[in-house]
Amino acid sequence: MGTVMKLKPLVVATTLTSFTLLGTSSFLYASDAHEHGIAELNVAFEAKQLEIMFLSPAANLVGFEHPPETEQQEKLIVDAVHALKQGYDIIRLPKEAVCLLKEADVEQSLLESHSSGHEEEHEHEKEHEHEEEHEHEKEHESGHSDFTVHYQFVCSKPEMLTGFTTGLFEQFPMIESIRYKMVSHEGQQGGELLPSKGDVHIKQ
Ligand SMILES: [Zn+2]
Repeated sequence: MGTVMKLKPLVVATTLTSFTLLGTSSFLYASDAHEHGIAELNVAFEAKQLEIMFLSPAANLVGFEHPPETEQQEKLIVDAVHALKQGYDIIRLPKEAVCLLKEADVEQSLLESHSSGHEEEHEHEKEHEHEEEHEHEKEHESGHSDFTVHYQFVCSKPEMLTGFTTGLFEQFPMIESIRYKMVSHEGQQGGELLPSKGDVHIKQ
């Protein structure tokens, strides 16, 4: 019996690390806080991938947290969703990092009907149907409602990704402050973004 099993411990360790950074939904959905004027940005940066989760009370984005009662209110919601999907405006990355927006997924419960019938959205609805129903119940009970936006960028020169600024304060002036958390190979960092100080520095 001359066979020796090769365990490749380094490869295993790398794989586990990737899992920990990007696969931990508990990090990206870290908080249940709902405070008007305050929003949250949770960032995970791993290899070429930049994952960003933006959470905000609907009040910060549209000015109310109930299903639309007028056409004007409905338009405010549609406009907010549209603005949030413009990932390059919301998260302004250095050109040198050559980052491509792969996904900008906006979830909100004020408008139940989804206007666009993408296959992906249907899949998503099906997957989260149960979960979302519970969320809705919870939100309706409390009278509050949140927007959750997930952005995924892939950068071909991640070493040039030294930070980013956000267009959120310009787009949504009712946001007073954004608490951010970031996890990368450099560890965790966090802080507060303000309209006067809206840039996130990424340690590399
Ligand atoms: Zn609220």
